[in-house]
Amino acid sequence: MKLRLVTTLLSLLLIALLLPALAFANPQDSDAGVPLFFNGKQLKPEVAPRIIKDVTMVPVRIIAEELGSKVEWNQKARQVTITKKETKITMVIDQPAASINGVKQKLDAAPVLIAGNTLLPVRFIAENMGIDVNWDDVTRAVYLTETPSGGADPTETVHPPQDTGDSADKPATDANGNLVPVIKSIAMTDSQLQITADSGKLSPTVFPLHGPERIVVDIPNAVLDPALFSDASSKSGSTVSSSVYVSTVRYSQFNIQPYTVRIVLDMKGSASLSWESGLQTAALVGVLQQGGGSKGGSGKYKVVIDPGHGDQDPGARAAIGRDEKEFNLAMGLKVYNLLQQESQIEPYMTRNDDTFVPLDDRGKFANDLHADLFVSIHGNSYIASSTGTETYYYKSDSIDFANVMHKHLAPATGFADRGVRQEAYRVVKITNMPAILLEVGFLSNPTESATMFDEAFQNKVAAAIVAGIKEQLQIP
Ligand SMILES: [Zn+2]
Repeated sequence: MKLRLVTTLLSLLLIALLLPALAFANPQDSDAGVPLFFNGKQLKPEVAPRIIKDVTMVPVRIIAEELGSKVEWNQKARQVTITKKETKITMVIDQPAASINGVKQKLDAAPVLIAGNTLLPVRFIAENMGIDVNWDDVTRAVYLTETPSGGADPTETVHPPQDTGDSADKPATDANGNLVPVIKSIAMTDSQLQITADSGKLSPTVFPLHGPERIVVDIPNAVLDPALFSDASSKSGSTVSSSVYVSTVRYSQFNIQPYTVRIVLDMKGSASLSWESGLQTAALVGVLQQGGGSKGGSGKYKVVIDPGHGDQDPGARAAIGRDEKEFNLAMGLKVYNLLQQESQIEPYMTRNDDTFVPLDDRGKFANDLHADLFVSIHGNSYIASSTGTETYYYKSDSIDFANVMHKHLAPATGFADRGVRQEAYRVVKITNMPAILLEVGFLSNPTESATMFDEAFQNKVAAAIVAGIKEQLQIP
């Protein structure tokens, strides 16, 4: 009989399946668990993450499967070991300490065993693996974002993967035995990056690297067609581009456990990549745009309108039964349309339909654009009797804009004036330009929410928001 029982991830999953699991209730209900996003995708653990002593605890399975680390469980010692690249973290159930590569560290909350599931402090683990952890007050959700760690170059390296002895003739399959999409072509036109796979869905993540300027596109759960390799031994290739933005497109089978394809665009200057179509399909079209300075090429002020929430993140539920995301988008589109009539303003939207955009991407969009102003639009929620309009800012460079905007906004709504307030909302915190977040009124208030979905009200408020933007930009 073995004294030490070390199970692999597979048997850990079997254990998890045999033990009773708690149902994952409505993720918007804070009592039922904390919504958790990784690289913009919402994770759906079978056991809800929960907050213990102000620390978000998530099931071990999330750490293993989603954050791409190896998890070992020592039953007798009640010890979990998490390994990712050179980092090895060891924790013991109910002990508020961890060891990172042999160095002891204190934990704010100890790992716990709940209904047979091990819950671990996600921030501690993620941050030690180079994953950014952000808590968003507006959505009450945790956002995990993989960041390029350390110096720029090693993260971008298009390295040859380890040979695991897989037969090259065998089609690649994922952990569940499903076929992995095969990328058949990677093409760069004047301003578009086109990626086509034979089947399945591609969900890339994009990040820029500077000095020299590069844009990195990682596509998890995908393999490259060997026909694309110009160097078979390193499973990589490259093409020279005639695009105005890109000099060379390089790509490789970056990882095979799990499968990841990496594409690196060597840039001629600074530009940003946004997906025009194809996310979650087999064909992607990315559009490159110049990320020039303020009143740059066009000589216009760039104003980013950010309708809060979207898609699976509905925001607050209005008393009249509609979602906040709907109100935010309707308001945002009205402001955008009015701004388009302004000769000195070039408006942009972080979303113009019912899609989900992670908070960091909203901020990054405005930063990459070198926007002059950022306006996030929301509806508030508390109790039925709550009423009033609020304008939020966070950075000191945004106080003036908040005051100017509120002077126009509050009288236009006709609701109670709850004033200008400072709060560390993510979108107004990470943006480099004056940035504000508007809580137009309370959707939890039946009267106020009925007014807020009224067309005439929205037009009036949109005009007031535009007036605030124009005054801030000193446009007569
Ligand atoms: Zn909101």
